[in-house]
Parts: sequence; structure tokens; C-alpha cells
Amino acid sequence: MKEVRDLSLEELAERIRVCPDCRLSQERNRAVPGEGKGESILFVGEAPGWHEDQMGRPFVGPAGKFLEELLSSIGLKREEVFITNMVKCRPPANRDPLPDEMEACRKYLDRQIELLRPRAIVSLGRHSLARFFPGKTISQVHGSWRKEESTIYFAMYHPAAALHQGNLRKVIQEDFLKLPQAIREAEKARAEKPVQQLSFF
Ligand code: URA
Repeated sequence: MKEVRDLSLEELAERIRVCPDCRLSQERNRAVPGEGKGESILFVGEAPGWHEDQMGRPFVGPAGKFLEELLSSIGLKREEVFITNMVKCRPPANRDPLPDEMEACRKYLDRQIELLRPRAIVSLGRHSLARFFPGKTISQVHGSWRKEESTIYFAMYHPAAALHQGNLRKVIQEDFLKLPQAIREAEKARAEKPVQQLSFF
């Protein structure tokens, strides 16, 4: 069997669909590898929910509908970006993913980043934030970004936060409108310094 670091994007998705590496595999209906376009913008959520577990696709429930609205507000369609999660299988009753589950799944996101070479990585919510903005809180950094090598990291509240806390909807919409400028910077950075390899966090 090939090592994860040797798999293509399609092989990786196949491996994720049959992954037995943590307890989440025992209760899932379908694993959710992620989908979309490479060399673009990578959105990293938390974990599949009920709808995603049924369909095997990321962000296809109410949070996904809002994410699509946000994308459309800056002229993008979901097929033009890549959408995935920190953890590829649904935690029971939508509980938070546990540290050992995130650790077991980490190799998949690492390989996705390596293969996709995203110009920008948008973290959606706390768990993704913890990886891409270690030590920061979402209330400190939402709507902001930093450049590292030739990749932009952009911090967002999770779209589902707007469904639970109505007052965050406008904040999220406004934060999202800053993304095009970050993407332009990412494109400039990429033109100046093409990405060579995965940066590990
Ligand atoms: N929430 C997430 O974090 N990911 C999904 O795919 C759906 C909802």
C-alpha cells in the first residue's frame, strides 16, 4: 500500500473514504475528503455534519448554503475553490473533534495542501484557526490575514456561527469582503515566488 505522501488527489480521496485510523470511522456513513479546484483558495472547516456525512461532500447543509452565499458575494462559485475540513468524518452528534482524531486525520490535510498548492488558505472556525493561526483567538483575528512564503492565511468565523448567533452574520459577510484583496496579494506573492513545497505547521 502506498504511503499517504505518495498519493495523488484522487487516490487520497479514495484512501480517506476507507480510512480506519480513528474511532470516527466506526460511526460514519460516508467520509468527506473535500472537493474543488487546485491552485486556488482552500477553505478548511471543522468536520462534516449530518448532511455532509449523508452525501460524502463538504458544506452541503445550512452552513454550506451560507458559505455559497459568501462566495457569491465576491463573485466566486464553490467549484472554483477547494473546500475541506480538519477532520474528514463526522463526530457523533456533531461534537467537537477530539485531539487524537485531529492528529490521526492531519496527514490527509497535509497532503491535500501539498498537492493543491493553494494560493490562500481560509480557516473557518476555531479548530482550523488553531492550526493556521496558533495561539490566536477568532475574536482577535477574524477578517485578517498574514502572508507566509507565497501563501496567504485568512481567518474567518465558521459560517455556522451565523446560524446560531444572528449578530455574527453581518460580521462574517463584512470579513468575507476583505478576501479578494487578500487573494490579490496571494496572486502577487505567487507570481513573485512560485510555491515549491508544503509548509508544515
Ligand atoms: N461544518 C464544517 O465544519 N464542515 C462541513 O463540511 C459542514 C459543516
